[in-house]
Amino acid sequence: MSTCAIVGINWGDEGKGRMVDYLAGVYDVIVRYQGGNNAGHTVMNEYGKFALNLLPSGIFHKDKINLLGAGTVVDLKHLVEEIGRVRSQGVEISPDNLKISDRAIIVFPFYPLLDEMEEERLAGEKYGSTKRGIGPVYGDKYMKKAIQMGDLLRPKSLEKHLHTLIDWKNASLTGIYAHEPISRESIDEWLDSYAKPLKPYIADAGEVLKNAVKQGKSILFEAQLGALRDIQYGIYPFSSSSSPLAAYAPVGCGLPSLKVDNVVGVVKAYSTCVGEGPFVGELTDETGDWIRTAGGEYGAATGRPRRVAWLDIVATKYGVELQGADELALTKLDVLSGLEKIPVCVGYKLNGETVTSFPYTPDLYDCEPVYVTLNGWDEDLTGVRSFDALPKAAREYVLFCEEKLACPIKYVSVGPDREQLIIR
Ligand code: GDP
Repeated sequence: MSTCAIVGINWGDEGKGRMVDYLAGVYDVIVRYQGGNNAGHTVMNEYGKFALNLLPSGIFHKDKINLLGAGTVVDLKHLVEEIGRVRSQGVEISPDNLKISDRAIIVFPFYPLLDEMEEERLAGEKYGSTKRGIGPVYGDKYMKKAIQMGDLLRPKSLEKHLHTLIDWKNASLTGIYAHEPISRESIDEWLDSYAKPLKPYIADAGEVLKNAVKQGKSILFEAQLGALRDIQYGIYPFSSSSSPLAAYAPVGCGLPSLKVDNVVGVVKAYSTCVGEGPFVGELTDETGDWIRTAGGEYGAATGRPRRVAWLDIVATKYGVELQGADELALTKLDVLSGLEKIPVCVGYKLNGETVTSFPYTPDLYDCEPVYVTLNGWDEDLTGVRSFDALPKAAREYVLFCEEKLACPIKYVSVGPDREQLIIR
């Protein structure tokens, strides 16, 4: 039995989906351990192109178990529709290859509504939420007001919790936001449509994982977002509401006694960030537009244009350390082809000094990037399959990053397809 976590090192959208899709083939169980449908992996394979928001990326391998762990939050409607979309492209999904932890939390329709109204109330001070209800539902989880998936199989418990929850949510909706209350009937209708089809998938995740361990099965933990979005160590409050760190994987999966044997950190060859918050060295000029277009940098879940910057070693090294990465995958190196020079941010100027450790979040607004400029290359990398076949400048770029990040770059990705990967 071996376990591996594939995690984001930066602000998310590093290309974790393609790495999980690639590695899912060699693991037996693939687990999402945090977050909800607020982020998306893009996966391209023989079935087509998919934006997966909730489904673990192992869903394309029908002999694998895909698990939504206890640390996740599940919008039932979104999951039912996502299953439908993926199935319609010929992928088999059944309770044999998909399981949802009974301890995962339900995202009811009032959570996205509250999320949206709070962003509106904040106006100029908004967090840049994806408005999928993730902040409000995790808030309720920790206030012990939310409802776990297992209640869908226990009508008495559901009734008791739902009654209290709706009363309380209506107090916020009407009191804080002057919104009309939600009706119990509308929630019952929603549950009728979207809870019923998911009931067969609800399972005790701990038991699923214990059995897998007993049978010597290998387990892959799949994170969404990246280290800098961690609720505790990220750019709070422009963070997510859960922990995308590898250290959280055992807790969030459903079997806290598991150990993570290997942590693969995914880093993009340049930086992108969605939403609000400090982003040192943001390129707001035509170079930024060029990279955004070349890299197709638009959110998989929301379609929002991503903010763009050069690779930031200060932030990335912090991410590598937070994740405890054993090895790295550097993705989208192909996107940088055609640039004469490629700056890399190796430090921040803060209050007249150069710093190389990641500052406390509000101090980031006062940081200016310090660059080292490397040579670019013209060649198309998308067909390259070995490190030695890369142009010299591209090799030097990888080696420079590896040295600065003090972590081996084992994978270099040169395109979205499963086989467009260089393994060193
Ligand atoms: P994730 O959330 O970390 O999985 O990242 P996203 O899926 O949101 O963003 C990655 C995007 O880049 C997807 O559209 C991928 O298909 C694509 N992608 C991943 N790796 C590469 C690569 O090496 N080169 C190129 N050109 N595209 C890639």
